[in-house]
Amino acid sequence: MSLVLEHVAHAFGDRVVLQDVSLGVGAGEIVCLLGPSGCGKTTLLRIAAGLERLQAGRILIGGRVVAGPDVHVPPEERGVGLLFQDYALFPHLNVRENVLFGLTRLAPSERAERMTQALAQAGLAGYEEAYPHTLSGGQQQRVALARALAPRPRLLLLDEPFSDLDSRLRDQVRDDTLHTLQRAGISTLMVTHDAEEAMFMGERIALLREDGRIAQSGRPADLYLSPASGFVASFLGEVNRLPGRVERGSVGTPFGPLAAPDLPEGTRVEVLIRPEALLLERWADDADAPEGRGRARVTAARMLGRTSMVHLSVPGPNGATLHIHARVPGQFLPKEDEVVAVTLDSTRTFVFRAESAA
Ligand code: ATP
Repeated sequence: MSLVLEHVAHAFGDRVVLQDVSLGVGAGEIVCLLGPSGCGKTTLLRIAAGLERLQAGRILIGGRVVAGPDVHVPPEERGVGLLFQDYALFPHLNVRENVLFGLTRLAPSERAERMTQALAQAGLAGYEEAYPHTLSGGQQQRVALARALAPRPRLLLLDEPFSDLDSRLRDQVRDDTLHTLQRAGISTLMVTHDAEEAMFMGERIALLREDGRIAQSGRPADLYLSPASGFVASFLGEVNRLPGRVERGSVGTPFGPLAAPDLPEGTRVEVLIRPEALLLERWADDADAPEGRGRARVTAARMLGRTSMVHLSVPGPNGATLHIHARVPGQFLPKEDEVVAVTLDSTRTFVFRAESAA
């Protein structure tokens, strides 16, 4: 069932937390609401669920207006499943009873069937009699997910559902959750402040800025590879920042010129370079610069597992030295002080006006 938020705005007293937020979640789609701490993500989720009263805009679930200027459908009639960061499992109830809790309106035989199905879906068959405190954090999360899915909600709203898990367990639980949601085919809006998590889980991402406006929404690749602003580029992943100025339609960098056809002559810019956009090759220090490449001096190199991180220093404007990071696939560990040739992958390099690159 689809969810549509239209021009939602919200304030707590004088403090404006959401401004003109519009976004949609298609039937069976997983959308992530991403943003820095305090930008209003939880508030938006609570408004969609009906736990917070809508102040401006409209909310539709499955094409029906559930909140608008004269409409407020109560939370229990919106057919929405909720899963919050703390899971809110009942400690005195076992897994079976926790999952049955949300199914009180059904006939006993149907309750039992739904419970069994939800536990199987969440990979918890056999844990019916266990109490929450005897389960790992990951298993508790799965019980909470099973409880949210058991009533077969039309829409699932997840608020930072993995943030209480340690990082290794989190990867596994995220993966399990993604597949559970896909199997259930349920429309999901998930809040997170972690860009990698949003890209892992979401078919689409809506990124909120600190002022409660949407900075950009689209597929993860759109935000990562075609960011609308410096904020989007740096929120989605690490970037190296180099100052520059537009001269005759391009910006000079230590690795060659970059086209900036849409910016007026003389504009002060920031060049944002993803670490994986710096393609490195070993190079004898005294050789001439190969065509179209720059050179950089290695200050450190470390193997990070799948990639190597190479720290480089390059000459910047006015005699300054810039420190930049390159991320290279596999093992590439030049020595400190070695000079490397650098080619820039312009598809992962962005030029923004200096004032909008923050
Ligand atoms: P986080 O990632 O830190 O949870 P968030 O993006 O989910 O943040 P919200 O929890 O929606 O942000 O809060 C947005 C802002 O509104 C914050 O400044 C918060 O302090 C404020 N806020 C939230 N709920 C209330 C409330 N009931 N009364 C007053 N202010 C509130």
